[in-house]
Amino acid sequence: MADQNHNSPAFTIDLDQAAQAWESIKSAKQIAIISHRHPDPDTVGANLALRSALTKAGLQIQSFCVDAPPETCQFLEESACYQKNFQPENFDLIISVDCGGIEQVAFQKQFPDIFKSNFINIDHHASNQLFGTINIVQTNLSSTCEIIYQLLHFWELPVTTDISNYLLFGLYYDTGSFMHPNTTPTVLEIASDLVRLGARLDLITKSLFQNFTENKFHLWGQILEKIKVTAEGNAAAAIPHQDLVKHQAGSEELSGLTNYLSMVKGSKFAVMVSEEETGQIRGSLRSVSGDVDLSKLAQSLGGGGHRKASGFSLEGKITEHPFWTIQQN
Ligand code: AMP
Repeated sequence: MADQNHNSPAFTIDLDQAAQAWESIKSAKQIAIISHRHPDPDTVGANLALRSALTKAGLQIQSFCVDAPPETCQFLEESACYQKNFQPENFDLIISVDCGGIEQVAFQKQFPDIFKSNFINIDHHASNQLFGTINIVQTNLSSTCEIIYQLLHFWELPVTTDISNYLLFGLYYDTGSFMHPNTTPTVLEIASDLVRLGARLDLITKSLFQNFTENKFHLWGQILEKIKVTAEGNAAAAIPHQDLVKHQAGSEELSGLTNYLSMVKGSKFAVMVSEEETGQIRGSLRSVSGDVDLSKLAQSLGGGGHRKASGFSLEGKITEHPFWTIQQN
């Protein structure tokens, strides 16, 4: 284990759980790392970073997610390694990364007993139900990638160039490009360390902000034209599935749009609801104001997340007239 005096960050994670996790990892023969459904750069970065570090340490790792990583993650080495066909009996250890609730793991629908296995739950969401046998859940940290950064130092595993890129992507994304209040001095120090280790901030920003297709511009244009702003200045957008079909877009093309909605001057929060092909409605909530806790609102709708960024899923449909309405099944 790391000596805190030697090139290590000041550890703020639960070191007892971290030490137990390492014992469990070292003795495992086959390890599965699971990212949350509708994966984002934090869960993908954390998965690939852990996968790379543990593989280099001689362990057998496979990465799983019910959904493919979004296009924004495809520039990352190894982003194609994800598998969907998860068979829990093939693994003696399961690790979930950035899954802020049981539902986010998604494979538990098919295998309800997976939490009874050796299960390490690494996450930073307040909504996390501590569903692992070992839980490294740090709601004080910006991102799961920040937790992984500390874990790798604590376990004395090298942060190689590929790993620095994975971790910076998660850190950058979950701090809203270093704009959210979770951008602590430590986050900026870690980011600077990762860039020093070879992380490509230029490729990360390019992948997030310079890869809009014409279809995506048209889709966003149509949605932005129809947003509603309440008397309090809060913006809402509703996207029926047919809008995605019309622009030949997948739901991942909506990623980042709620951040735009929260740009309305004086707004406390923004809401986007979108209809999935599966008949589910996804809600995405963002706030730029200090006194709104959106994780509570999301939890009241069966979802979860953070004070400033949260989400939920409901069974139902969006109907357009006379106003946007969600009809729950
Ligand atoms: P999104 O708006 O999809 O980017 O999600 C914002 C935050 O809320 C992320 O940290 C997600 O992990 C979390 N989140 C989104 N949907 C859910 C859900 N159904 N249950 C728990 N957490 C969620």
